[in-house]
Amino acid sequence: MDLELAPADLAFREQVRAFLAAKLTPELRAAAARQAGVFAEGELARRWQRILYEQGWVAPSWPREYGGAAFTHVQRYIFDSECAAAGAPALPAMGLQMCGPVLMAYGTQAQKEYFLPRTLSGAHYWCQGYSEPQSGSDLASLQTRAVRDGDEYVVTGSKIWTTHAQHANWMFMLVRTSAEGKAQRGISFLLVDMATPGITVKPIISISGEHEVNQVFFDEVRIPVANRVGEENQGWTVAKYLLEFERGGGAWSARIKGLLRQLRAIAVVEQSDGGGPLAADPSFRRRLAELEAEVMAVEFTERRVVSNLSTGANAGDAVASLLKLKGSETQQRVTELLVEALGCYATPDQRAALGWHATGAPIGPEYARTPVARYLNGRAATIFGGSSEIQRNILARAVLGL
Ligand SMILES: Cc1cc2nc3c(=O)[nH]c(=O)nc-3n(C[C@H](O)[C@H](O)[C@H](O)COP(=O)(O)OP(=O)(O)OC[C@H]3O[C@@H](n4cnc5c(N)ncnc54)[C@H](O)[C@@H]3O)c2cc1C
Repeated sequence: MDLELAPADLAFREQVRAFLAAKLTPELRAAAARQAGVFAEGELARRWQRILYEQGWVAPSWPREYGGAAFTHVQRYIFDSECAAAGAPALPAMGLQMCGPVLMAYGTQAQKEYFLPRTLSGAHYWCQGYSEPQSGSDLASLQTRAVRDGDEYVVTGSKIWTTHAQHANWMFMLVRTSAEGKAQRGISFLLVDMATPGITVKPIISISGEHEVNQVFFDEVRIPVANRVGEENQGWTVAKYLLEFERGGGAWSARIKGLLRQLRAIAVVEQSDGGGPLAADPSFRRRLAELEAEVMAVEFTERRVVSNLSTGANAGDAVASLLKLKGSETQQRVTELLVEALGCYATPDQRAALGWHATGAPIGPEYARTPVARYLNGRAATIFGGSSEIQRNILARAVLGL
């Protein structure tokens, strides 16, 4: 296993760095630094997507035949890490990372030709309609009903926690097309134009004060049968395939290292209870060192996975779960320490200074702008994409054979 970068990969890294230095403008970088959510807000995401699209890098892992960059596994990792380290806006994953690969694997020729180019260009902004008020971890129990009526399905029910539904013009969703037999066997996968009559999007404001998630209501919404991906009642297979992309990969360590840099900078300025800079406080230093070791472990796991994938070996079913679990939990611990390090500056409401359109200065020093919102927002990281308990169940089954 080779965890070091080959000369060609180092050259690619320089190419990515040069691109980011030229195209990630101070304005875009500053707007991204004011974001507390998982993904950049709609308008910011669209702007950055356009720039990546023009460069041909908007879909790093898509094959060239569909307009992707066809990066190798190592290149993909370098690209994600460099974007995160440079503070680039995080593009929503729902279209490019989730729906796109599903369409390539299960879509009809007509679906591929229509949806993939629009997903690449950003003309289609996707949201994910999986979870329902009574169905989250136990997703197969979903109840949103689709009744066939000629060439259409008539859909009634509700989806919840739908990230960026307020920005999206398309949704991929799971619906119940049969109540017979095993719950998994009666599910179908549909693509829905959000402008279809009968759809209502209601905001849910999260604990950090942001509007990221929504509840979406369907009242006899008519969806063409042609918008079904895969066979009727076979949607569970499609849904599971998509979840591999939701959980997997990414560059957790690069994002967390950015937070650690912020933490170290704050610790030089802020005072410890005993007097003197926090950075010299033995208790703080011990916690920082523990976190640095955790992040290093996440990074080396990421590199190990990339190294295995590039030799053609399977990453293993459990690895995506392992990285999601460790990445999200480590990120939460770093954001906790960041809030503690802020001291009294953790108390003001900074919402006026957050977001794409924010014009207000933060209350207190610049470094007080985002940590609390990111800490609060980050609580969700161990829930979405499969909660930590669910990831541990997967690991127990895959690794321990339980
Ligand atoms: C910020 C955010 C964004 C989201 N975005 C989307 C989105 O865009 N689209 C979408 O479809 N969904 C989205 N979700 C929903 C997310 O996928 C669900 O919240 C998640 O799957 C958990 O489901 P639940 O909330 O119903 O909790 P539940 O499944 O009811 O779980 C409650 C608790 O029980 C535990 N638990 C449940 N089952 C087990 C088990 N078998 N073993 C051990 N413990 C268990 C869970 O870990 C959790 O602690 C989002 C959620 C959040 C918080």
